[in-house]
Amino acid sequence: MKTINFAIDLGTTNSLIANYNNGAVKIYNNPLGLKQTLPSCVAFRGNRTIIGDKALDYLEKDAENVCMLFKRKMGTQETYFIPSINKEVSPIELSSLIIKELKNFVSDTDQLQTAVITIPASFDTIQSNATKKAGYLAGFKEVVLLQEPIAACLAFANQSNLDIQSSKNWIVYDFGGGTFDVALVEVNDRELKVIDNEGDNFLGGADFDNLIVEKIIVPKIEVKANVTNLFKDIKTKSGQYKGLYFELLKKAEEAKKELSVYPETEIELDLDINNENIFEQIIITRAEFEAVISPKVEQTITFIKKVISQNQLLNAQIERLILIGGSTYVPLIKQRIKEETGILVDSSIDPTSAVVDGAAYFAGSKPTNIKEEDVVIQDVEVDTVETQIFYEQNTRDLEELITCKVSDSNLSYRITRMDGGYDSGIKTIVNNGFSEFVPLLKGQLNRFKIQILNQDLNVVKTINTVAINQGSYNVLGQPLPIDICMEIDDIDASTTRLEQIFRKGSILPLKKKIYKTASKTILKNSDANLIINIVEGQSKGLPSSGLSIGYIEFSGKDLEDDLIKGTDIEIELEITESRDLKINVYLQACDQEFKNVFSQSERAISISKINMEINAVLSEVEHLIREQVEDENFEYSNTLEQLRVGLIEVQIETTLLDDNDVSDQKYQLDDKKRKLIQAFDTLTRNKIIALEIEEYNQSKEAIEWEVNKDENEKYRLKYLKVIANEKEVINSGDKYLIKAKIKELDILYNSIIQSSDENFIGYYIGLKYSSGFTDKKKADKLIKEGDQVLERNDYTSLKHIVYALYALLPDIEKDKQKLFKDDSKTGLR
Ligand code: ADP
Ligand code: MG
Repeated sequence: MKTINFAIDLGTTNSLIANYNNGAVKIYNNPLGLKQTLPSCVAFRGNRTIIGDKALDYLEKDAENVCMLFKRKMGTQETYFIPSINKEVSPIELSSLIIKELKNFVSDTDQLQTAVITIPASFDTIQSNATKKAGYLAGFKEVVLLQEPIAACLAFANQSNLDIQSSKNWIVYDFGGGTFDVALVEVNDRELKVIDNEGDNFLGGADFDNLIVEKIIVPKIEVKANVTNLFKDIKTKSGQYKGLYFELLKKAEEAKKELSVYPETEIELDLDINNENIFEQIIITRAEFEAVISPKVEQTITFIKKVISQNQLLNAQIERLILIGGSTYVPLIKQRIKEETGILVDSSIDPTSAVVDGAAYFAGSKPTNIKEEDVVIQDVEVDTVETQIFYEQNTRDLEELITCKVSDSNLSYRITRMDGGYDSGIKTIVNNGFSEFVPLLKGQLNRFKIQILNQDLNVVKTINTVAINQGSYNVLGQPLPIDICMEIDDIDASTTRLEQIFRKGSILPLKKKIYKTASKTILKNSDANLIINIVEGQSKGLPSSGLSIGYIEFSGKDLEDDLIKGTDIEIELEITESRDLKINVYLQACDQEFKNVFSQSERAISISKINMEINAVLSEVEHLIREQVEDENFEYSNTLEQLRVGLIEVQIETTLLDDNDVSDQKYQLDDKKRKLIQAFDTLTRNKIIALEIEEYNQSKEAIEWEVNKDENEKYRLKYLKVIANEKEVINSGDKYLIKAKIKELDILYNSIIQSSDENFIGYYIGLKYSSGFTDKKKADKLIKEGDQVLERNDYTSLKHIVYALYALLPDIEKDKQKLFKDDSKTGLR
């Protein structure tokens, strides 16, 4: 077999392994207990490591040495301290232990060289890389990532064997233990494509368990034991209630599962609180449970609506909504989705194994990059022949047409199927091309070799890449879940902004060469530096709303020649299918290259950084609110107010957070922060554009006045040239393009003014009557002097006085006067 062939669903709570062979998926059973699922849980007992169900058993006895839900911390720097081995272990190491254990389910471990590992569609680049790393650490030689909703759709499509004639939209609703994902998938007669996805990496069944503990069980204990603040106390790592949190979580989960079937359930508690024994039976009803989880369920429905509306679809255009993930057993979920959307809710596939099942189909269609030992080394080929090949990659037919165009004449061809079951024989090529029907094996990936031979029947070219998938559904590439951007200086260079390089939804792999200009001069051997920061986040947004995934910085000390402002910088970016980021920077002026490959698998989160970023945005939000209230724009100011409250709530939550907190709160808060800042970005964009257009018109008026006044033909022509494409620029809705135009106008305006000292009269009069100079005394003196030189018609001296007065303006006033500032952040524009 030359395909990947093993598939792993590395779940937050449950993991599974499967493979694909001869058209069928096999999900392996755990040799212990004969279940398909392996709980994603690891316990450390001195030099013994226990994985799965047995590890779960240790939770109550020895919670400190048991790790679970670590998928939620993939991609973070957080580690788990394990007292029994006196060591820190990382989420990547823990995941690799799960993968190694899954490998034990397969008896012939020799086969296990390559695997498809699934990830939530909302996993960012860093989290994806962390998953890949876990796979390699577990001994796989090749790891391919697949997004879970695509996997689920593949499972559904291939199992149900529907006959789909026209293109349809499906939604996959995956509510597992730790993550929630909703994906919009387009299905045509043989291919699936994810159009869009939404989700929350911090929303899952584990939150239900946590809510049962916090809102149902703990309040009942508090009353009984007459204590307060118990929930906060049991969540801290050390102290008298060590381990109690996890014990209650386990009971809560059991109760939750019971409530999917029965209207009420009972929990037995036997605890010591404040040295007093509490022995209690607690009854929990389904209604009680539904009341506490209802906000979370409604949150998931908001995501469904969002993904539909942001793709300009109506609910009626969604053919079905497929439920997967263990949490979809909760009856309230199905009921609320039906009530709210009216879409057909399909719960026909097993919610637990759907992902691994679909991933196995995918693995079976994915050629591996690992070289096989029996590859025959060809005689040296003279590859001057150019070919173009056309064929359907996915088909329901049992034969398929391969068409090929060839650049040279007097050649022959031969097509063989790689399994040896078909050989076309050597045939002459007529009219620079050929077409051939080739037979296909049912339900499999069929790979072909095409050889081009010369008159002496020597092979001059071999094409090994033709692969046709018969029968099953396949995936049309994997989309990028978030925009990938570069941080560059904003037009006025006082801040930076994100410029899009790859758009969300583009199919991986991706490659692009872009040209930027240096926005400052970096002298050889100087300390000045240039920064290339690649950020995953919404384009045009604030850099704090995204995540840095690759970073190259160099200074004058690294340069062999001066880098002069305005010279070209060539930057090539590439993202592979498994999300490695390659950055290649070429400086033409110095003939120097800087390159690096990033597969960052960790990100740092600090409470103080979250706070700082919130503060920066808050002051902007508050400023805008004041403006809107003054303008009586109440609807807009209310929306802003909601964002402000959200940001402040996050801030308050950060201050309540203990450094020893063992839950995921820090990451949840960071996530919330990013979402709020993104919402702010989107909200303000239109408003800002209106303001920019207003400013653009003001700049135009100023120039027109100058040009008309003196009938200055030279400048009029220049002016007409600048505004030639104004319609395009204004309609683009891109504030940065408009800003750039304003700047062009202002530069022109400045040069008109500078062209004659006499023009400074108007400037001077304007300045004379402005208020708020930083040094009033000095300004008064200058104005007195100015009036005198004006009387003498000494415009040259007047010009100097104008500059001196400028210098006395406060910064905000200077900005209004359109004085050009030359500071810079990244050095790129
Ligand atoms: P993951 O993909 O995140 O590993 P799963 O899809 O296996 O998760 O779902 C696990 C979650 O489903 C857990 O939170 C578990 O408590 C929950 N779950 C499993 N069975 C039920 C059930 N019968 N009723 C409610 N929740 C359930
Ligand atoms: Mg899952």
